[in-house]
Amino acid sequence: MPESAHEIHARAVDALRAPAVQEWATWPFEGPVRPHPLSAPGPEPHRDGEGGVDCTACAKPDSDYVWTDDNWRLMALEPSGLPIILILEPRSHHDGPADLPDDLAREQGMMLGRIERAVLSVGEIGRVHIGRWGEGAAHLHWWFIARPAGLPQLASSMAEIWDEVLPPTPQEVWRGNVARVVEAMRQA
Ligand SMILES: [Zn+2]
Repeated sequence: MPESAHEIHARAVDALRAPAVQEWATWPFEGPVRPHPLSAPGPEPHRDGEGGVDCTACAKPDSDYVWTDDNWRLMALEPSGLPIILILEPRSHHDGPADLPDDLAREQGMMLGRIERAVLSVGEIGRVHIGRWGEGAAHLHWWFIARPAGLPQLASSMAEIWDEVLPPTPQEVWRGNVARVVEAMRQA
C-alpha cells in the first residue's frame, strides 16, 4: 500500500530535516536554513486548463510563440537571469507523456533533441536542463533551461533559483539568443 498524504504528514511533520544546503556548491544563498512547517494535506490545487477546459495554452495565438509547426509551438520566456528559457507545447491539448498519442510521442522525442541543439547553438551554453512539471498548467509543456558555460555553480536543480538571483540578461543579448534558437529551428 502506498502512503497517503495523511500518513506521510503524520510521520514527517515533527521529523523534518534541514540539509546542510549552505555547503552545497550550487546553493545560491549563505547561512543555515530552516524548513517550512509541513502544511496539512489538502486537495490538489486547480491547474490552468484542467481537462482541456478554459486552457490558456490552447487559446494562445501562434504570434505568442517564437517558432511553430503543425503539431508543436515553442515559446520564449521574458529575459531572466539565465541566457534563455523556452517552453515547448504540443498544439493539441494533452496533459503529459502519459496521454500523448504514439505519433506525437515519437515526434516529442525528436523535438527534445532538436530544441536542445537549437539552445546549444546560442553559444556559451554549458547545459540545457529539460523538465516537465505540469503543476500550474495542465497543457503539456516542456521547459528548456539554459545554464551558461563556465558557471557550474548555477548547475542542476538550483538553476531555476539562480535564474531569479542573477540580474536579467540584457534585452539585446536575450533577443540575439532567441533569434539564434529560431534560426536553428528553421534550419533543422
Ligand atoms: Zn490546452
